[in-house]
Amino acid sequence: MPRKSGRHFLQLPGPTNVPDRVFRAMNRAVIDHRGPEFSTMVTRLLEDLRWIFGAPEHVFVFPSSASGCWEAALVNTLSPGDHVLVFNNGFFAGKWGAIAERLGFNVETLEGDWRYPVDARAIRDRLKADQDHSIQAVLVVHNETSTGVTSDIAEVRAVLDSVEHPALLMVDAVSSLGATEYQQGEWRVDVTVSGSQKGLMLPPGLGFCAVSSKAIEWHERATSNRGYWDFTDMLDVNRFGFFPYTPATTLLYGLEEALVMLREEGLDMVFARHARLAEATRLAVSGWGLDNFCADAIAYSNSGTTVQMPDRFDADAFRGVVLKRFNMSLGSGLGRLKEKVFRIGHLGDLNELMLMGALSGVEMGLKVEGIPHEDRGLRAAIEFLVAS
Ligand SMILES: *Cc1c(COP(=O)(O)O)cnc(C)c1O
Repeated sequence: MPRKSGRHFLQLPGPTNVPDRVFRAMNRAVIDHRGPEFSTMVTRLLEDLRWIFGAPEHVFVFPSSASGCWEAALVNTLSPGDHVLVFNNGFFAGKWGAIAERLGFNVETLEGDWRYPVDARAIRDRLKADQDHSIQAVLVVHNETSTGVTSDIAEVRAVLDSVEHPALLMVDAVSSLGATEYQQGEWRVDVTVSGSQKGLMLPPGLGFCAVSSKAIEWHERATSNRGYWDFTDMLDVNRFGFFPYTPATTLLYGLEEALVMLREEGLDMVFARHARLAEATRLAVSGWGLDNFCADAIAYSNSGTTVQMPDRFDADAFRGVVLKRFNMSLGSGLGRLKEKVFRIGHLGDLNELMLMGALSGVEMGLKVEGIPHEDRGLRAAIEFLVAS
């Protein structure tokens, strides 16, 4: 392949751009993971992580992709055959449910419309009917990255409270953490699953399980088989700033730096920036006369926008052209959305000109492919960014 000049545009809703500062922080010698320098770093890091999740009891860090923490969340808090309720409104929710099933839990799925957020009323009705409290856990995805739909977790919490249901509330915040407000403590989420390569601006390779004290209590009674993922092994040595096995030391250096960067910018500013760039993207999409897959304006994602490809056109062929001609990667349609949508990521380390570059690439791709569209997309985004 001939060399391509300039930067590649990685415009996925994860993995996202890794800032140079994070790369530089990672480019350091690996130290003894059982020595005093490491212990000091990790003790501070585990405290800082509580801040980014909104202060849960403890944050477990695994050298894994985020999906590994779907498993860790389940096996550490539940027992074989436990009844788990999953709200399926997208590809990732479905995958979490499928993993729960493989692990031998009794999984019940509430099928949602993929174009809409989690239907808290449907969850309430189901929990209300569960008089003997057989349901042990409710699983929802905060930001469904496949569809560009964000759900209201406070509303789900309120539903559990309103029917006084004691089930654990487990939330996938993989693509919302560091992009959209997330308050684990306030919303009394029991386990939050996340990963390094999205809002946290790191390379892939770290998974997180942020847990409440209730989740820790349940963990002490939970009898699922677990080896590598055991919270107890982690807690025993995390207290001293260590891990029960060799951690991903260089990723932890990067995590330290990423958290410093988020603090410097201020989380409120980070969220406002994401909201602004997301709105510019949505205005571009409607200016092209294309449809946002998310059908509920309240639930528009600030992490990524899923765009419906007009009938007769293949979204993957379009993405292929954009990659070849303009050196930009757009997100693909996942699961049942394969070839039907493409996804524009706008989370992580991004600014206005980077976004405008990405939107230009989309518009040029539409022209190259002869996909019918209107010419108002870029202008709408520019006008919004200049005025706001
Ligand atoms: C990316 C993503 C995952 C999976 O993360 P991996 O690191 O690929 O395992 C899970 N859930 C959501 C919502 C995601 O966006």
